[in-house]
Amino acid sequence: MPAPDLETIVSLCKRRGFIFPAAELYGGFANTYDYGPLGVELKRNIRDAWWRAMVRERDDVVGLDAALITHPRVWVASGHVATFNDPLVDCKKCRQRWRLDHLLEGDYGPVKRDAAGNPLCPNDGGELTEPRQFNLMFKTQIGTVADDSAIAYLPPETAQGIFINFENVVNSMRRKLPFGIAQTRVSFRNEITPGKFVFRTLEFEQMEMEYFCFPPKDRENPAEYLELHQQWIAARLAWYRDTLGIEASRLRIRNHEKAELSHYSAGTADIEYLFPWGWGELEGIAARTDFDLTAHGNESGHPITYFDEETHQHLVPWVIEPAAGLTRTLAVTLLDAYTEEPDEKGDKRVVLKFRPNVAPVKIAVLPLSKNETLRPFARKIYDMLRTSWMTQYDETQSIGRRYRRQDEIGTPVCITVDFQSVGEGGNTGDDAVTLRDRDTQEQVRIPVANLMAALRERLPGC
Ligand code: ATP
Repeated sequence: MPAPDLETIVSLCKRRGFIFPAAELYGGFANTYDYGPLGVELKRNIRDAWWRAMVRERDDVVGLDAALITHPRVWVASGHVATFNDPLVDCKKCRQRWRLDHLLEGDYGPVKRDAAGNPLCPNDGGELTEPRQFNLMFKTQIGTVADDSAIAYLPPETAQGIFINFENVVNSMRRKLPFGIAQTRVSFRNEITPGKFVFRTLEFEQMEMEYFCFPPKDRENPAEYLELHQQWIAARLAWYRDTLGIEASRLRIRNHEKAELSHYSAGTADIEYLFPWGWGELEGIAARTDFDLTAHGNESGHPITYFDEETHQHLVPWVIEPAAGLTRTLAVTLLDAYTEEPDEKGDKRVVLKFRPNVAPVKIAVLPLSKNETLRPFARKIYDMLRTSWMTQYDETQSIGRRYRRQDEIGTPVCITVDFQSVGEGGNTGDDAVTLRDRDTQEQVRIPVANLMAALRERLPGC
């Protein structure tokens, strides 16, 4: 059972330090969020899991971190200046702006229409203006002179930084086709549609990889290229399921219709998740052909090619692009992990059932009480563990409440130190602690000498 609704997650995120609405002090700032102490850990863990699967565990992919402020002609070559537009309509009565495609898809509620069938303002039923094209890129200005030559754009995606570095990577890393270049970083889009929490924000993080391969033998019927596309779709779907632990029945592949495809694309498939409001995109896997490298070659006047030593020919590689949203994946990881179940007393227990590899805190060390005799022992355990795993120490409130708190932030293991551990009434302690499993709530006694091994077993991939 995923989270019943978004509000439940939004409130948990704020209460427990995952995500805060930005600039609340000044009345908030639409579609922007700040990541709190647990949110940064969760985001970092998802990014690391992606990097591990896409770069470290493969021998055909390398990493890159290209500049954010990009040469303006890059966005001319990529087509973003001319075509990265959304159709915008204004209400003539209340002046509110709407994205026409989202309005028609029912994103703002049931579509109201006039007698002629024209859509009306979702807010007050007012007449709408003709659609205007609105560019989603944020403009900025370099230097002190405000003329057109000083305009730069904040990147709306990470891919172009990869294409313009293709030759640098081939030459410096002696790469042979096929190979990929991966990058994770912030992107910016001046989104008009009000976001659903971090599902759609103005500033978000992406995890993208461009996989360069030999051009197909037959451009019109690129069978081996489409086969590679299918392999990447399967690999990426498996990552959400097997590495992040997202429930398989809430994931699906949606192939784009011909009409949705860009003119250069040989196919695009989205990995979608069943959000509380319906299916929505999590990642797009696009077969981009040789469009981008050719476009940058044309715009710069410097053809971008690869020298094939076997045929002694220069060729333009074709590309498969798996493009995932890190912050959107984080939203899915939270929604999917959310569970409500009865505790041992029959009360409601909220648990974030994260896989250990993504859990922000792996272990909580909890002395049974604030008693002075327990503290040195518990602190010693805490000091021993925190160099290896993200660990919290908490001695306030009742042990039951501390367990609930750790369940609610998804900590896989709690370690309790009690009087049996340290000894009391002249008896020596057993030098052992209690390990409590988040999901089963089972408790086992483990000697401190075996603790590291027991935790390694319970925290795979951490
Ligand atoms: P959408 O149709 O939802 O606007 P898109 O098709 O424009 O997405 P892509 O350009 O394919 O998105 O970007 C790749 C991924 O980046 C998306 O699958 C999504 O996870 C993420 N993403 C795109 N726009 C946003 C945004 N405004 N906020 C958060 N994540 C985003």
